[in-house]
Amino acid sequence: MGDLANEFSWSRSRDNTFQECRRRYFYHYYGAWGGWDAGAPEDIRSLYILKQLASRQQWAGRVVHDAIEMVFHAFAGGRDLPVEPFIADVIERMRGEWRSSKAARYRDNPKTVALFEHEYAVDLKPEVWQALSRNVAVCLRHFFRLPLVAAIRKTSPEHWSIEHWSKVFLFEGTPVWMAPDFGFWNDDGRLALVDWKTGRSTPDGAAFQLGCYALYAAEVLGVPPAKVDLFEANLREPEVTQLTWSDERLAAIKEQLRLSVRSMKAYLVDPAANVAAIDDFEKAEDLRICKWCNFRTVCRPELTQV
Ligand code: SF4
Repeated sequence: MGDLANEFSWSRSRDNTFQECRRRYFYHYYGAWGGWDAGAPEDIRSLYILKQLASRQQWAGRVVHDAIEMVFHAFAGGRDLPVEPFIADVIERMRGEWRSSKAARYRDNPKTVALFEHEYAVDLKPEVWQALSRNVAVCLRHFFRLPLVAAIRKTSPEHWSIEHWSKVFLFEGTPVWMAPDFGFWNDDGRLALVDWKTGRSTPDGAAFQLGCYALYAAEVLGVPPAKVDLFEANLREPEVTQLTWSDERLAAIKEQLRLSVRSMKAYLVDPAANVAAIDDFEKAEDLRICKWCNFRTVCRPELTQV
């Protein structure tokens, strides 16, 4: 099962999972550990496969983010992309991913697209899927027309930070995974960090997300909050919200992060070795949360049968 050690690290999604349901958190970050190995014990392998499931909205969001990354790579290379053929290509790829998920290929290849709706046989009309791909197209069309994107293209691609996959850095001894979707330096010598949104977000969630970006700027890039502009670009509307940050607000984000790390570690049998025991992680009381939980079939099979 590999010699990788399950080391504790922090991320926004980990924090979200922890807040929503402790038992789900256990399954995701401890129970599924090692399940990438096809020869892992069956229960661990199943949890690992379930862990990969994405809701259709999460999947659509990832498709948009990946497409945007591709666009910026083209822009950085001095290439223009024909908008409609590009979008048609993205949608075509989505269809392929949808078919792969529908055929449950993810059971053998857990890294391929695995949709919650397929695993749990959620009965959705074709129109729902069509609306999803239409939304992706709308988000991408809006992206291409965004004044913010035009402004980015006027800056030097040399200093763009394109990949939206998180990078890790140490925060007070804890590895923290985070990175903005996109970063660039504007002409005034300010660092701009962008979060592309494809769905709704709560004001608190968005503020914490952007605050984490400010932390990333300070800790990883050494840029103080006063020199950072944070943008939340909602591609569905489209609407771009700009925020500035301050040292005080950054201190509050650090405190929030510290508290989150402390709460998670308090649940461990052995915090130093990152060892957890399932019985210490209570199940959610509100069954509505379970309805859309990846681990429902293992945790509350009675709900799946109903
Ligand atoms: S099924 Fe419910 S209780 Fe169980 S892990 Fe999921 S959200 Fe938590």
